[in-house]
Amino acid sequence: MDYGDKSHIKSLKEKYKSCFPDMAQRQPRWVSLRRSIIQRDRRFRGLLPIQFGELLVLDFECLADIYEVYVSLGLSKTDDLTDDGKSLFSYDKHKDRNGNTWDALQPVIAKFFMDTDNGFEIHTCHYCDMAYVNAYTMNGGKKAQFDLDHVLNKAKCPIIGLSLFNFVPACQMCNGSRIKGQKQLYSSAALRKKLSPTNTAYDFERIVTIEVHNKHGVCSTFGFEKRMDEYEIKFNSFKDPDYSEVVKAFHLEERYNYHKCEALRLLDLKERYTDARIMELARLMVGDDKAKATPHGMRIITQIKHDIFSLEFKKHFHRSFGKLQNDVLK
Ligand SMILES: [Zn+2]
Repeated sequence: MDYGDKSHIKSLKEKYKSCFPDMAQRQPRWVSLRRSIIQRDRRFRGLLPIQFGELLVLDFECLADIYEVYVSLGLSKTDDLTDDGKSLFSYDKHKDRNGNTWDALQPVIAKFFMDTDNGFEIHTCHYCDMAYVNAYTMNGGKKAQFDLDHVLNKAKCPIIGLSLFNFVPACQMCNGSRIKGQKQLYSSAALRKKLSPTNTAYDFERIVTIEVHNKHGVCSTFGFEKRMDEYEIKFNSFKDPDYSEVVKAFHLEERYNYHKCEALRLLDLKERYTDARIMELARLMVGDDKAKATPHGMRIITQIKHDIFSLEFKKHFHRSFGKLQNDVLK
């Protein structure tokens, strides 16, 4: 997730806290709940902020520490702490054990993510980059068409159920029970902390490369439609093997291989329109055999490349499979 620079993150946090209209009423309840949680495990003393609002904007690494200690308590669904947590951090509507109903705060949060002034680029799923996740307008009001995934399961740890850095705009496939759903991803606390798109150090884009492999070691791709079965898509995580866990968890190789024609078509184009061929086209258009040497000629060459490979269009209009296309063309 790209949250912008430090000053933007600071203002984002303040704006997020101000979205919750009843913060003042929730604060004394949080103080009481916090005390009860610390009584169960002293480690929480250094983890849980006194201010309710601060918990909502804690960095992901702090949330991950809270999550691990909280889950280690092994609280049941009927434990008073679970009920109090679900009430105070009511992402969904919740009726507590005293019969009080707590409003769902999900709409407030979805609205925050959809507010374009906040700078979120919500176009495709942050886990797979395959499906579009976007807001659309219906009857004059803005509606969400995306799921906000809780990276760390709010059912296991309700007190991080409203925290900004626990949310990832995701498609229904990634967020659904077949892939992530309510599952606890990854085998260790260290991996859970490291491999969240909301961790500022997370860098799937740079570390993982999407590659097309020919199963028989032959490089030519010309006429891919006839030879689709000879190719497969691989996610290369050699720069940091931990990232292969993300590829596995979200079944990216299997899912991308279904769409491998996207990559193979580009490879065909790349083979057909080499730099030399593009230069020839530019010369024809400019009528000048020094096309590359003039600014006008350079503009024509760039334009031809963009037209053939749809690069600017895909970047500007946030089409899916952006990383696949960039990696294949590199
Ligand atoms: Zn997805």
